[in-house]
Amino acid sequence: MAAKVLNGTELAGKVKAELKGEVEALKQKGISTGLAVIIVGNDPASRVYVNHKKNDCAEIGIKSFEYALPEETTEDELLSLIETLNNDDNVNGILVQMPIPKHINEDRVIAAINPLKDADCFHPINVGNLMIGKPQFLPCTPAGVVELLEENGIQVEGKNCVVVGRSNIVGKPQAILLLSKNATVTICHSRTANIQEHCKNADILICAIGKAEFIKPEYVKPGAVVIDVGVSRGADGKLIGDVQFQAVSEIASAITKVTGGVGPMTRAMLMKNTVKAVKIQNNIC
Ligand code: NAP
Repeated sequence: MAAKVLNGTELAGKVKAELKGEVEALKQKGISTGLAVIIVGNDPASRVYVNHKKNDCAEIGIKSFEYALPEETTEDELLSLIETLNNDDNVNGILVQMPIPKHINEDRVIAAINPLKDADCFHPINVGNLMIGKPQFLPCTPAGVVELLEENGIQVEGKNCVVVGRSNIVGKPQAILLLSKNATVTICHSRTANIQEHCKNADILICAIGKAEFIKPEYVKPGAVVIDVGVSRGADGKLIGDVQFQAVSEIASAITKVTGGVGPMTRAMLMKNTVKAVKIQNNIC
């Protein structure tokens, strides 16, 4: 039987509708919500992502402040802008769209953001808080995946979860978040031996490597839940996931599609973090 397709667009719409109500309630108390988005350079994919985020803000009633900086922006100039935004009370959340040009040190940029305004949850303090089980914010993509699972009635506790990919923004925080939900977690990466065997053992398989259709049916246990985080672009310009969707959906019990799966949930979680930031900054939670 074909797998159930977990619809991220639909669930993200529900999350955003709830957030819209919260933003409106804050407004009634005289509290506005603002997200600053910084984009450096002319990467077309980054431009698309930033536009989506601005649209999400507009939908929810969050003010968005865009700072589009030229490719040749220096690290000092970027750090100085972040410092200004850290001190601007109209700005509750700050994100710097990645990737940034190579001449700018990504770690220094992330560390410069006030941890209380860190809407992406990339700052080492927020990552550390997640690690010790006391998160203020949740990392957007991993949190989106967990919400997609839970809202579809897929229990994580006690399950064998295999995360393929170990980046700081997806793989590692995904594993920590699943662990905090009492899953038994295996992390695979480019040096993992027998990756197929590990994947085949997963009750829940999450792939975040950016290698088109890497996960084939022989990597998947019948009845497993398969979450496709990866996004690559084919020669025709179309987006392709890390999972061979058609073939894998024949044996999985539930699966996400690229597009309409994890992507919209990631953005919804960014909005959730922004609203959380407003509450933290106003001592509401
Ligand atoms: P990244 O920083 O490039 O990390 C990729 C990870 O995949 C690394 O840990 C790497 O292992 C691992 N990897 C690469 N090739 C592999 C292979 N053949 N077998 C096993 N592991 C392999 O990428 P990222 O930022 O985590 O993003 C991963 C993918 O998710 C990308 O396609 C990105 O576009 C997508 N993404 C989607 C969303 C969304 O909302 N849908 C959000 C974020 C990212 P090593 O560490 O050993 O090098």
